[in-house]
Amino acid sequence: MVALAATLGWLGRRLIENENDLARSRATDLRETLADRAVAVLQQRLADWRQALGSSPASDSETGLAGCRDDCIVVRLSADGVRRLAGSPLLYSPTESENPVSDRFATAMLQSAGLEHSRGRYREALAGYDRLESRGAAVTAGMPAALAARAGRLVVHQRAGDIESGLAEARALARDLEAARWPVSYSTFKYLVAQARERHVSTAERLSDAATRLWDASNRDAPATPLTTLDTPEGPLLVVTAGASSKHVALIATSTFVERELVATVSGLLEGRGVRLALDSPKDGRTLVGSSRSAGERQAMRLAVETGLPWNVRIVSIDGEDPLLARRRATLMAGLGVLILFVLTGGWFVGRGVTRELEVARLKSEFVAAVSHEFRTPLTTIVQLSELLRGGRVAGEADRQAYYDLLHGEGTRLRRLVERLLNFGRIESGQAEYRLVSVDVSELVRSCVDEFRAARVSSPHELAQPDEAIEPPPSVRADREALGTVLWNLLENALKYSPDGGRIDVSVHRAGENVEIRVSDQGVGIPEAERHRIFEPFVRGAAARDRQIRGTGVGLSLARAIVRSHGGDLTVDSVVDRGSTFTVRLPGATV
Ligand code: ADP
Repeated sequence: MVALAATLGWLGRRLIENENDLARSRATDLRETLADRAVAVLQQRLADWRQALGSSPASDSETGLAGCRDDCIVVRLSADGVRRLAGSPLLYSPTESENPVSDRFATAMLQSAGLEHSRGRYREALAGYDRLESRGAAVTAGMPAALAARAGRLVVHQRAGDIESGLAEARALARDLEAARWPVSYSTFKYLVAQARERHVSTAERLSDAATRLWDASNRDAPATPLTTLDTPEGPLLVVTAGASSKHVALIATSTFVERELVATVSGLLEGRGVRLALDSPKDGRTLVGSSRSAGERQAMRLAVETGLPWNVRIVSIDGEDPLLARRRATLMAGLGVLILFVLTGGWFVGRGVTRELEVARLKSEFVAAVSHEFRTPLTTIVQLSELLRGGRVAGEADRQAYYDLLHGEGTRLRRLVERLLNFGRIESGQAEYRLVSVDVSELVRSCVDEFRAARVSSPHELAQPDEAIEPPPSVRADREALGTVLWNLLENALKYSPDGGRIDVSVHRAGENVEIRVSDQGVGIPEAERHRIFEPFVRGAAARDRQIRGTGVGLSLARAIVRSHGGDLTVDSVVDRGSTFTVRLPGATV
């Protein structure tokens, strides 16, 4: 059975391993297919963008370019400069006006404020800059008067040690620049932004810088690549261009935009397939979208050179098991478990059955031997005595009488033995019949003990009758003869399993509604382990077998069956080497 269960377990393991291999190859196929499809979707989307850029950018909501707002910019690059078409503001113009026309008033105001400042008259200087601010976009010192005034005030506050106001001014200046409130050139923007800087580079500035770099490149007639990435210290930007290289439109987008407007179109394809998308830079392999690579990861990759996309595309299996596979494995395991359990349980039952059969066979052969022995002893005595009597070889009348008594005793013993076996047979086959009458238990016990005593005159045991009489006399409804057999068996056992001279007590009690007959001896006692089994048919205790005490092993099982048929029970209390007490409990009869 164990070998069968182990084989089943081994087969199950092989089956699961095969399942795993199959699942792995299926997952590889799936990744490859999905990689191709993801690339196709990305290519299509980017082609749509390029087409949209070539016609009317910004207006095309179908292509997702409508989403080009803060993290993306669409610009037209031409020899004259850069023009923003959509998306984030362009913070400055990459071109410098050759000779910006300065405003006379503004210049005069700037100078006077600067003079006050250098004299240390800060309040007057600040007032001067306030006045200058009112000139707005009028150019002085190559920048709009409003910005020149902010920059001037910033420096005055710093000098005067007014940190609060200085910070507020810096923030306001940064805000103006960030919102492209006044038109500025690249160098002015960079100069002013450096003055105001206590912040990180904004997305708008990154995009404006990128636009300037593209413009610069296009001015140098560098060929415009339709799809590329532009590295910046804050991370790469996607550039999609359309149109002739001398005058083309470019979309510049951050990875947030790419994820939202581009990668999102692929996510529908990948959802629920146990994979995710990652985009890596083809230059240095850095992961731009999705989580970076980890060792042993199962993935399908499409290189930028094959696909024409600006990234290497990876389809990566998400860690963790395929839920379908896990479910199938669980079912398989459960099925196998049940099968193994069946095999083992079956094995156990068969084993138990065989053990029982063997035990029964052993008990039966012991029983046959015991019964034969039980018969042989009295029969031998009877045969020998009758030989003597028949041959007239008896000394006197007294001996003759003794021989007759012996013959009678042995004959009665044989009769009892046969009756016991017949009773046992009847009870076993469920054919026992009882004639229930009202029985005075004390009276029955007394007469039974007397009878037993008479039969065992030579017994060296002391057999005590119940001492006190119970009033009213306890009575039960029982078959007198059957109950007598029970008592006889118990008395016989008490005698057999007690040393010579041992005392045997018989007593009658009332226990609530019940009547109890107790037979106690001071004999060998019964070990705990045997106390249940001795009531089973043919079972003999170790004491009986070791000491070769006569018996068939059916007495107690017969007694218990009779008592139980009367609605009562037979139990035992025992201490090894001290003695045992058997208790017959019967429901009392209402008189
Ligand atoms: P047996 O013919 O062997 O006496 P029983 O069914 O009467 O068969 O008893 C079963 C076993 O119970 C005995 O073999 C013996 O080991 C044990 N037994 C019964 N009565 C006593 C007792 N009074 N003291 C000790 N052991 C007993």
